[in-house]
Amino acid sequence: MTITSPEASVDAAERDLLERVPTGLFVGGRWTPSRSGGTLDVADPSTGRVLTTIASADPEDGLAALDAACAAADDWARTPPRRRAEILRRAWELLQERRDEFALLITLEMGKPLHEAQGEVTYGGEFLRWFSEEAVRITGRYGINPEGTGRTIVSHHPVGPCLLITPWNFPLAMATRKIAPALAAGCTVVVKPAELTPLTTLFFARVLEDAGVPAGVVNVIPTNSSKTVSAPIIAEPRLRKLSFTGSTEVGKVLLRQAAENVLRTSMELGGNAPFLVFEDADLDAAVEGALLAKFRNSGEACTAANRFLVQRSVVREFSDRVAARVEAMRVGRGTEQGVQVGPLIDARAVAKTSALVADAVSRGAEVRTGGDALPGEGTFFAPTVVTEVPADSDLFRTEIFGPVLSIVPFDDEDEAVRLANGTEYGLAAYVYTRDLARGQRMMEGLETGMLGLNAGVISNASAPFGGVKQSGLGREGGVEGIHEYLTTKYTMTPDPTI
Ligand code: NAD
Repeated sequence: MTITSPEASVDAAERDLLERVPTGLFVGGRWTPSRSGGTLDVADPSTGRVLTTIASADPEDGLAALDAACAAADDWARTPPRRRAEILRRAWELLQERRDEFALLITLEMGKPLHEAQGEVTYGGEFLRWFSEEAVRITGRYGINPEGTGRTIVSHHPVGPCLLITPWNFPLAMATRKIAPALAAGCTVVVKPAELTPLTTLFFARVLEDAGVPAGVVNVIPTNSSKTVSAPIIAEPRLRKLSFTGSTEVGKVLLRQAAENVLRTSMELGGNAPFLVFEDADLDAAVEGALLAKFRNSGEACTAANRFLVQRSVVREFSDRVAARVEAMRVGRGTEQGVQVGPLIDARAVAKTSALVADAVSRGAEVRTGGDALPGEGTFFAPTVVTEVPADSDLFRTEIFGPVLSIVPFDDEDEAVRLANGTEYGLAAYVYTRDLARGQRMMEGLETGMLGLNAGVISNASAPFGGVKQSGLGREGGVEGIHEYLTTKYTMTPDPTI
């Protein structure tokens, strides 16, 4: 592993960009300070230094944002789908023009290497393009009832004002994955980005403004008090939908709050993805897929492979090969050339990752490379490979959210499936095999919302993203994504020929 020391100072390009990022709340088409004057510091995880200070919403600001979303709701719902589509398409174009700025901003506040931030701009942007194409395809159906006495008309309508709560790990994509389908469907939104990475969402609100999104359709309220700002909005009967991406723990709290008004919800929650390597796999491809599925985003992805289940006959070769590759990884500030793994988001994440590795080691696991936090400024953790991980260790059962590749051997297919499914989560899974029938058995047998079959990256705007079990409810992306923001209405009318 090569460690690159974080640059001490923010360079001129970074300063210039930060000066152009809005620092206010975006409510009703206006940039405003918080009513109570609250502020929020946003730091660079690779240095710990404050990048900028922005307004922090208080509960009244939150309700004002909901007022704005409600005031704009009827007009936006009546805006022709073609017009909504053109605005989203324009937003995608503007994002392409500003892609380098967005990539740098994502890297600065979240830490991922610049090339990965560029990848996020592409991925996040695709939701704008995809849903601009879906906005004009909201169709219904017309049918004759079985008795032949009536006609059934099924139509879809915008659900109404939505609260969108996003996490810090993909500051752009988690926002566009919700905002784009909501706007395509004709809904207005209040967006509450994560307090650790709110700058990208604020900068993106500028794109939406410039693309012609009318005032009040999108409102953005960063806050350092998520709970006290979100709860009164969720309690408001005018809110019609809550879409949340984040931890299962917080998702459960929000589901309880949403139950009070029987609010429509979409929940994109945590994962504990198994990555299965069978002895018939193309091992070169499995190693490449493993590195992508584990170390992209420093392992801070809900789809990150969490448990590598490897058939015993190939476990030594697989472990040796990944350990050699991980050992050579370059760690550093994401803005530096050649960096492959950036910092973790904060000191809490480093402490959690260290504790998980320590627990596994105390139960007999072997650290092949890495294993520790890195000294110096910033919140870096060495890319790590751990073998012989006992299935009862926390490392096996917990969502790691860090750059730790943990390997557990298995003997046969039944054991692999049993281990893979032995979790309350069910977001993503990965399988490497050359046996088509086995691949199909995995597709049917694994309890997961998404499966990478000989593929280490699965996210795509055209596909339905989401989990089963405690990984969530609903889907984002794909043709399914827009329906999270539509209600279904059925109209009965008599047979017109009688
Ligand atoms: P988190 O649950 O701590 O926070 C997510 C968001 O909820 C943030 O905006 C936060 O400010 C807000 N929040 C926290 N407590 C709240 C409360 N009581 N009321 C209202 N809002 C509250 O999660 P995180 O640490 O930001 O993100 C990491 C988690 O997100 C991981 O578990 C990861 O798997 C999950 N995630 C899931 C997906 C998915 O699509 N399934 C995608 C990305 C991340």
